[in-house]
Amino acid sequence: MDDARWEKVVNLTGFNGNECYQCGVCTATCPLGYMGEETIDARNLIRRAQIGLDVTSGIWNCSTCKLCEQSCPRQVNIVNVIRGLRQFEFEERKAPDKIVAMLWDIYENGNPWGGKKSDRSKWADGLEVKDAEKGTEVLLYVGCDAAYNKDLHPALRSLAKLLNKAGIDYGTLGNKEMCCGEPVRNAGEAYYLDDLVKENISMFEKTGAKTVVAFSPHCKNMFEKYYRDMGFKIDVKHYSEFLSDLVKEGKIGFKEGRSGKITIHDPCYLSRYDGGDESIREILGTFPGLEVKEMEMSGKNSLCCGGGGNRMFIDFEGKRLSDFRMEQARDTGAETVITACPVCNMNLSDSGKTNGINLKVKEVAEFLEESVK
Ligand code: SF4
Repeated sequence: MDDARWEKVVNLTGFNGNECYQCGVCTATCPLGYMGEETIDARNLIRRAQIGLDVTSGIWNCSTCKLCEQSCPRQVNIVNVIRGLRQFEFEERKAPDKIVAMLWDIYENGNPWGGKKSDRSKWADGLEVKDAEKGTEVLLYVGCDAAYNKDLHPALRSLAKLLNKAGIDYGTLGNKEMCCGEPVRNAGEAYYLDDLVKENISMFEKTGAKTVVAFSPHCKNMFEKYYRDMGFKIDVKHYSEFLSDLVKEGKIGFKEGRSGKITIHDPCYLSRYDGGDESIREILGTFPGLEVKEMEMSGKNSLCCGGGGNRMFIDFEGKRLSDFRMEQARDTGAETVITACPVCNMNLSDSGKTNGINLKVKEVAEFLEESVK
């Protein structure tokens, strides 16, 4: 055993693995098993981290969905162990090439998709969206996934229109907005992450905003759970929570009698990471006549779409979790899948197209905006 190596692995995993007593529930719960694939062997990874051995393969496959962590009888922070092990691999220059390429895109363009900085705010062309640098009550943080995926622009535009209709004083950072740092954190690049987060906190605070509304639950989680430790003080909400509050306050009203069958895909970063957030159901619950057909796994037990934890940037062979999830959605007999996460939205939409499953996938913002008086 190499003591220095042991100390490094234990430190990078933040002592999070120490409570593990090797029951194996985490490995058995990993959703990759639903497709008959090799699961992430979290028990093995944690044991190796406890005793300072080299990590094994599998850490880059994890979508950080937290389903294993939710089932762990010892409340081990398994995702933190995985991130620590990734940092170890990154520092040993063993990160996959596609992850390194994705990081270069963030260094150079402020986003992991290779889009130009000047295209970041194209989604808002023709809309009245204020420049938050001039001062604003609410800072709308768009995030890279929705800003650079044209299929998500209608949902972003719907959100902007709803905020305008409700009379909210909001603005965005336009083309100056930078990645929230989640992909950097998931890649284990701790030094750049530190710089990026400090720069973002400074930009956010200069706007004078009292609330940051994040379009993606991944960004919200970064602000709420990671930025806080770096001194970030602004209140943070996911857009679905913010809209749900506006509906409750009567600032957004609907046409009567919307009907149909829908199902809900709960994003991991809202349902499990946010302690069972119910904002999607609260919004949809205001439509009389709408039939919600729940999927086999929903709420806190939702099945991951497979795109978190930087899996979006790596190629995988065979059936995808989102393929499996769209089959579950189809089996409910619903006509539309409602979600509230750009990562889930992209994956589910793609799986619908590639598997011939004729179901619409919509952000709850878009669904709501279609129904507003
Ligand atoms: Fe360890 Fe928890 Fe996994 Fe059991 S479920 S092996 S205690 S991390």
